[in-house]
Amino acid sequence: MTKENLEFKTEVKQLLDLMIHSLYSHKEIFLRELISNASDAIDKARYESLTDSSLMENDREWKIKLTADKEAGTLTLSDNGTGMTKDEIIRSLGTIAHSGTKEFLAALQSKEVKDNPALIGQFGVGFYSSFMVADKVTVVTRKAGSGSKKAVKWESSADGRFTVEDTEKEGKGTDVTLHLKEDERKYLEEWELRGVIRKYSDYIEHPVVMDVEKEQDSTLKKGEKVKIKEEETLNSRKAIWLKDKADISEEEYKEFYKHVSHDFMDPAKVIHYKAEGTSEFVALLYIPSNMPFDIYYKDYKMGPTLYVKRVQIMEHCEQLIPRYLRFVKGVIDSSDLPLNVSREILQSNRQVEIINKSITKKLLDTLGEMKKNEYDRYLSFYKEFGRILKEGIHFDFSRKEAISELLLFQSMNKTADLYISLQEYVDGMKEGQEEIYYITGTSYEEAKNSPYLEAFKEKGYDVLMMLDEVDDFIATGLEYKGKKFKSAVKGEIDLDKSKEAEKKETKKKFKALIELIRDQLKDDVKDVRLSGRLKDTACCLVGDEMDMDPQMEKLLKSMGQDIPQNKRILEINPAHPIFEAMNRLFEKEQKSVVLEEYIKLLYDQALLLEGSKPKDPTAFANTISRLMVKDAERAAG
Ligand code: ADP
Repeated sequence: MTKENLEFKTEVKQLLDLMIHSLYSHKEIFLRELISNASDAIDKARYESLTDSSLMENDREWKIKLTADKEAGTLTLSDNGTGMTKDEIIRSLGTIAHSGTKEFLAALQSKEVKDNPALIGQFGVGFYSSFMVADKVTVVTRKAGSGSKKAVKWESSADGRFTVEDTEKEGKGTDVTLHLKEDERKYLEEWELRGVIRKYSDYIEHPVVMDVEKEQDSTLKKGEKVKIKEEETLNSRKAIWLKDKADISEEEYKEFYKHVSHDFMDPAKVIHYKAEGTSEFVALLYIPSNMPFDIYYKDYKMGPTLYVKRVQIMEHCEQLIPRYLRFVKGVIDSSDLPLNVSREILQSNRQVEIINKSITKKLLDTLGEMKKNEYDRYLSFYKEFGRILKEGIHFDFSRKEAISELLLFQSMNKTADLYISLQEYVDGMKEGQEEIYYITGTSYEEAKNSPYLEAFKEKGYDVLMMLDEVDDFIATGLEYKGKKFKSAVKGEIDLDKSKEAEKKETKKKFKALIELIRDQLKDDVKDVRLSGRLKDTACCLVGDEMDMDPQMEKLLKSMGQDIPQNKRILEINPAHPIFEAMNRLFEKEQKSVVLEEYIKLLYDQALLLEGSKPKDPTAFANTISRLMVKDAERAAG
C-alpha cells in the first residue's frame, strides 16, 4: 500500500492559509458546509440508485452521523452517500479549486469585504472551512456500488500538502474526521452541536444523528438509574416550503434563504406560494439584497433547486426561470414531475414550462407590487438587479409590457438620486412632444452636460438617461403606451416643427458653405447638415437612426469585436456665430486656407464632444495655440 504525498493547487493553498489565519467570525459554519456536502452526496446516491439499485448496497436508511470522541479530540461526520474514488478525491479536495475560489480570494482584498467580514459567508467556502477549527483532517471514503471494501484515505494538516493512500471501509460513503484545535474543543459538546445544527442545518432533509447519553430506569435494580447511549436525530428535517405560511417565522425564512443561497445577507423579498390547477407545485423563492458575486461569470449556476415530492432532484434547475430573473434563489417542489427526470427531459417538459410561466408571472407581479407599495426597497433592488431584469425586454417578447412597467431611469430634469418610471415620464411630457427621448452615456454627469441635449433643455423636454451598456439595445424598438423611444444622439431631431419657413431660409443661406464642408470632410463623415438639437455648441457628430449607438460601439470594441467603422453625420448649429463668420469669409473668398483650417477644427471639436480623440491631436493643439496667439495679439492691440 503506497502513500502518495501531493501538493494542493496554489489557489487552494491560499484559501487554506486564509481560513487558518484570517477568518475568525462564524467558525461554526464549517459544520453547515460539511453537512451540506454529506447531504449532497446522499442526494446523489439516491438519485443514481433510482436507475441502478445496486448502489444502495442494502443500506436504505440514508443518514448523516456525528461522532464526538472527547479523548481523541476528534469530531467525525459520516454519510452513507455516493463516496469518492481516489481520482475524485484528489481532484475534489486538492487539485481543483472550487469554482469561485479565485474570485473569493480577489474579493477578500476588496475594501468592501474587509470592512464587512460577514460578506465572506456569501462565498461557499466548502470543505476547506474545516481547517478553521481543525489542525488535521482525515477523510476516508468508499464509492457506492464498488463491490469491495477498498477505500481511500485522504489526510492533510493544511501545510500545503495532502496524502492519499488505500484503506478499507465497511459501508459506502464518506467519513470526515476533524482533529480539533485545542481551543475549538467545544464542538465535541452535545449542546454546542445541537445549537449549530438547529441554526444552520435544520432543513436538511436527511437525518443528522448522534449518539446521546440518556438516563433510564434500571431493569436490574428497582429505583436506580442507568446511563445508556441512544441515537437521536438533531434536525427537524422539516421542508420549510411545505409548511403553512402562518407557521413560519421571518427568522426561519431568512435562515433557509442563507441555506439555499450561501448568502450571508438577508434576502430583499420572500415569495412563498402554492400553485394548484394545471400544475401543482410549491415555490419558495427569494430575491437577494445583493448581487451574487459570480452572476456575471460564464459558469454562474442559475435557477432554484428542484424537488419532486420532497426529494431533491437537482440544484440550479435553470429551466425553471428565465435568464433575466437569474438572480432569484430558492426551491420548487413539484407533485407532477416524475422522480427520475433528467436535465434532458426537463428541457422539453410541458410541466416545467407551466411552472416556469407561473413563477415568472409571480415574480414580475411581486416586483410590481414592491414598486408600488415599497418603493425604497424596490429602488435598491432595481439599482442592484435592474440591469439584468431589463434583458427581459429584449428576450421575453410576451412580457415586454409587464417588464417595461418595472423600469426606472434617471433623467435630465431630475437630480441624480431620483429615478422615474416610464409612466412618470409620459405623464410629464410637454405639449407637442411625441416621443420618449433618451441619451446613452457612462455617467449621469456626462450625459446631463451633453451638447446633444441643448434643444431639449430649451424646450423643457425631459430626457431619460440610459447609463447601462445594455440600454440602447433595449430602447431600440421599444414602445411605451404607443410612444416610440428616440435617441438624442441618433437621427434628426426637430423640436420646432412650426418654424418651417425660417428653417428653409437658413438652409438656403448656408447651402454653399455646407457643401464646401461636406466636400472637404467626405472621407470622414457621411453627411453634413444643419442641426435641430444644438443651441450653444457649434457642431456635433450624430449617427443615423439605424446606426449602432456610440456607447454600444465602444463597448463592443473594448470587448475586441471587429466593428466596421461607421461614418457619422456632422451637424452644425446655424445659430452659432462661427457659421455666420465662416459664411462671410466664404462669400468673400471661395478657396480660403483659413476656412479649410476651421473646417478641420470643427470636425475635431465634434470628435472631442462625443468622447473621441481629434484625428491628429498634435495638429489640433498647434492650430489652437496659433489662433490663441493671434487673438492675444489682437487683444493686446
Ligand atoms: P462544494 O461542495 O461547494 O463543491 P467543497 O470544497 O465543499 O465544495 O467540496 C468539493 C467537492 O468534494 C464536492 O463538490 C464533492 O464532489 C466532493 N465532496 C465533498 N464532500 C463529500 C462527501 N461527503 N461525499 C462525497 N463527495 C464529497
